[in-house]
Amino acid sequence: MDTISLGDVEITRVTEVRGMSLPRDAVFPDVDAGHWREHQHWLAPEYFDPAADEVRASVQTWVLRSEGRTILVDTGIGNGRERPYMPVFAHLDTDFLGELATAGVRPEDVDVVVCTHLHGDHVGWNTHLVDREWQPTFPNAEYVVARADFEYWNPENQIRTRSGRRMQNVFEDSVAPVHRAGQTVLWEGDHHDVDAHLRIEPAPGHTPGSSVLHLRSGTERAVFVGDLLHSPLQIAEPDCSPCFDEDEARASTERRRILGWTADHNALLFPAHFPGPGAAQVRRDGGRFAVKEWATWR
Ligand SMILES: [Zn+2]
Repeated sequence: MDTISLGDVEITRVTEVRGMSLPRDAVFPDVDAGHWREHQHWLAPEYFDPAADEVRASVQTWVLRSEGRTILVDTGIGNGRERPYMPVFAHLDTDFLGELATAGVRPEDVDVVVCTHLHGDHVGWNTHLVDREWQPTFPNAEYVVARADFEYWNPENQIRTRSGRRMQNVFEDSVAPVHRAGQTVLWEGDHHDVDAHLRIEPAPGHTPGSSVLHLRSGTERAVFVGDLLHSPLQIAEPDCSPCFDEDEARASTERRRILGWTADHNALLFPAHFPGPGAAQVRRDGGRFAVKEWATWR
């Protein structure tokens, strides 16, 4: 079991999908291939496969135990989804709930679900099928969602998104049922406190409501950043954006801001999709950043 304790908070990694390979030029169409060649000596083989020209990723969630409560950060892709324009997310049949059980978490134990943003690979297990209806997977949880994302992705608002049809059905099957059940907490403003150790703050760009979860306990610091980064390449090259960033310029600004904070506070950085160690400490490197140390789990 991948677990780290930081101050009074225990963090456990629960992985839904390991070893996902995605074509580099499809995920990062606006990034010069030369950046990947320049950094492949440390990105390969864990994060980049130069021979296949593929980016390697995983889909993982984080279970936090803090002040006697269980908090789940993001909920992966989910099973049995209809994703006609995102086939890699469609019709999964994983044992994610079994993995959660192995981490000691039954669905009814989850007190808070933090949605870093409302993309389909972060809200999937918000719901599951009961008979033929999507119902909240975590019956006792409040689901904390930035209002900016709730409004942006709600199809009733008919907003033209960069992701377009790739996010088709996501709001309807993974967000709306939770809202109808009265379990969403829509937050806005400059922060939302989960408890004394955990604070959600805005980091817009990837999506308008993208947020990061800060952990502060004793002298320990960590930041759960969702999709602020998809590949460690973006630590070294923070201006490199994937096609999934709704607003690339804003995403770059926020990536630099939060990487800077992380480096200056010796915080552990927890992105959603890094395989291997999954989390890292970073340091400043001129106008860029570098991995100082990868996380070690017990
Ligand atoms: Zn993602």
